Formats: sequence, C-alpha cells, structure tokens
Amino acid sequence: MVKAVVGANWGDEGKGKITDMLAEKADIIVRFQGGANAGHTIVNKYGKFALHTLPSGVFYQHTTSVIGNGVALNIPILFNEIKSIEEKGVPAPKIMISDRAQIVMPYHILFDQYEEERLAGKSFGSTKSGIAPFYSDKYAKIGFQVNELFDEDRLKEKIKGVVETKNVLLEHLYHKPLLDADELFKTLMEYKEMVKPYVGDVSLFINDALKEGKTVLLEGQLGTLKDPDHGIYPMVTSSSTLAGYGAVGAGLPPYEIKQVVTVCKAYSSAVGAGAFVSEIFGDEADELRRRGGDGGEYGATTGRPRRMGWFDCVASKYGCRLQGTTDVAFTVLDVLGYLDEIPVCVGYEIDGEVVTDFPVTHLLEKAKPVLKTLPGWKCDIRGIKNYDELPENCRKYVEFVEDQIGFPITMVSNGPSRDDIIYRKSKYSK
Ligand code: GDP
Repeated sequence: MVKAVVGANWGDEGKGKITDMLAEKADIIVRFQGGANAGHTIVNKYGKFALHTLPSGVFYQHTTSVIGNGVALNIPILFNEIKSIEEKGVPAPKIMISDRAQIVMPYHILFDQYEEERLAGKSFGSTKSGIAPFYSDKYAKIGFQVNELFDEDRLKEKIKGVVETKNVLLEHLYHKPLLDADELFKTLMEYKEMVKPYVGDVSLFINDALKEGKTVLLEGQLGTLKDPDHGIYPMVTSSSTLAGYGAVGAGLPPYEIKQVVTVCKAYSSAVGAGAFVSEIFGDEADELRRRGGDGGEYGATTGRPRRMGWFDCVASKYGCRLQGTTDVAFTVLDVLGYLDEIPVCVGYEIDGEVVTDFPVTHLLEKAKPVLKTLPGWKCDIRGIKNYDELPENCRKYVEFVEDQIGFPITMVSNGPSRDDIIYRKSKYSK
C-alpha cells in the first residue's frame, strides 16, 4: 500500500519528522516532486540533518530511498548530501534515481538569479535554486532526463540546440556571459559518473514492490498553498505539492494511495512573498519565531527568518481537502505552551463579508483575519505520550481546530524527535 505525507499549508509543517517516523514501517520512501529549494529538518540518533533532495528514509537500513521522475534533480547537491550523511556515521543508504527524472542544469540556477535581479522588487521571492527555469524547460520540452546522459552523441546535439536559444536570452535580455556547449557537455559527463550507480526504472521497481505487498511512503515538499494550480498563484512553486501528484511523480497507480497524512503545524509560518492572512508582526512574531520549531523558525535551506502567524483554519481546511486527507498530523504543539491566550484564525473578512472557504488570490489579498481566542495551557507538554494526559486547554485547542477543519487529527506531535508523538482517536476518522 502507498501512504503519502504532505503539507496542508505553506510548507515547513514538520513533514520531515513525520516521514522519518512513518519510515520505520515502510519499505520504500519516495520523493515525487520539487527540488533542492526546500528542506526537511530531521533529528535522530545520528544528529540533526537538513535534507534537501534525499528522502527522509535514508536513516534506516531496511528502506530504499527513491528520487521519482517528478523531482527536479540537482545532482551535485544530492551527492554532497549523501557524502555528508555518511560522514556523520549513517550507514550508506540504498538509493534509486528515476531514469526519467530531469536534471537541474547549471544554467537553470543562473537564470533563476538573473530573472530575480531583472524583476528586482517585483520578484517571486525565489530561493534561486533553478526550480522555476527547470520546470519551464521541462514543459517546454527542452529539459534533460537522466537517461539522456547515457547517449553521448544525441546529448551533444541536444546541448547545441539548447545553448543556442539560451544564449539569445543571456545576450539580449540579461546581458550576461554566454554558455559554452563543450563546457556543459563536460559537466554533464561528471554528473553521469555521479548518478550511474543509482539509476533505474523507478515506476517498475515500485509497481513490483506493491505486488509483493510492500509499503511505499510518498514524501511531499512544501504544502497545498504552494501548489501551482490550487495554491496562491503566482506565489507558488513550480511542481504540484498534492498527494494526487504522487502517482504521477513516482509512476504508480493513483488508487494505491490509501492513506494521506496531511501535516498541519499548530501555528502558521511561511517563507517568500504572497498573501498570509493570519500573519503577525513585531515582538509577538519575534517571540513565536524564536520559540518555534526546533531552534527557531528559520528556513532549512536559506536560513531566512520565516513569516509567522496564528493557526489558520480557513487555509488548513482547504489544504487538507485538496490533499484528500485521511489523517492530520498536528505538529509543534509544544511550542505554544508559553502563551496565556492563543488566537486562531476562523474566518476571512473580504469586502465586509466573512468566508470560511479559501478564496482565489485576488480576493485573498483583501482578506482580513477573523480571530477567536482560546485559553493557553501554560506548561511544557513534551514527554507526554497519552492524549488524555495533555492539559485540558491543550486538548480543547486540538479539538477546536479539528472541528474547524473537519478532518481527523490522529497524531499530535509534541517535540522534534521521532518518538515525540501522541496518537489519538478522532470522531472524523472514516
Ligand atoms: P518540513 O519541511 O515540513 O519537514 O518542516 P521543517 O523541517 O522545515 O520544519 C519543522 C521544524 O520543526 C524542524 O526543525 C523540526 O525538527 C521541528 N519539529 C517537527 N515537529 C515538531 C514538534 O512537534 N515540536 C517541535 N518543537 N519541533 C518540531
């Protein structure tokens, strides 16, 4: 069977920790979209890791970690990641890279930087990892699949054609140094040596494994609100962040996805530009940012301070619905223990009317939060293992959020480690 772990919001919900936890009972862990532009932070017995490309399952010996065809594969970053985890004493993981995954080219990263420079103040807040230029090229059909590295004559021809068009833009739009086809070919030959031991037919591998009754975990990046179709377009990422896309990005039958664990953080954070209705500012935000996550809410890839806000029921209800949620994992609840009162965003006021269904972007930009304040529990809940042992106000907070979003919160995370987890029964479970 296939399980997906995905985000309900803007990303950084704590998916890495939940995947790492669920990976214990999985055979294969698959990244199916996105690139090295976001990161998961994982804390385990080997130390603290920020993974950008490798699936979170690399810390187990019984799992195979798979990079699906839907991923934007940055080969040097992947190899540095493998090296860095081996250096910290993690045994060499089993890794398989789809022969259909496409390669982030050095010029994708350059184009990302040049375009941000050109747009100056009007930029999309890109992490400049080349992701948008990569996916643009993929759909313009001038991308390079991993398998193309193994047909050198054909590759040389193709590089020539691509360099020609890229150089027009470099010369006339960006006024930057031009690309050299031979140089690029050489780089790709280095990439070939790096990926060679891992390349395979991922879809076939997964489908065979499913026939044998194996468990496959799909690991999403970012969250619903960054989906190019259903998110806050255009302040979105360039590949679908939805569990449904897992079928495409890994090459498996959609009906095999039986469980969708949608990760929701007990408060909100976002990186990059775009509407963020429940956002808070000043000292209130600073304190939550400082106390948040595990050592503060700063980007795992960029180190950028994250934008902070109260829990947003409107966005989360929508985020869970689009994912097809069977279970909500409600994370980082322990962080809220310092607050006397906890505001929660229960509606959006748009042109004098209150809505609870997440609107399209131009309306979202006008939305003002409707807040309801719940009492805090004023204590440390880390270490608690049973739901009933949580303070009453803490349980009330969980149950209030659950009623607002209408999806079952079956896991509550009260600390960054794998075993900081409380399972609970929910009246919303099917
Ligand atoms: P992801 O991209 O969705 O995996 O999220 P990030 O890794 O960027 O952010 C989650 C942060 O919160 C990481 O630093 C985690 O170690 C941490 N974290 C996850 N769950 C919990 C939790 O329940 N409590 C606390 N305090 N930190 C958590």
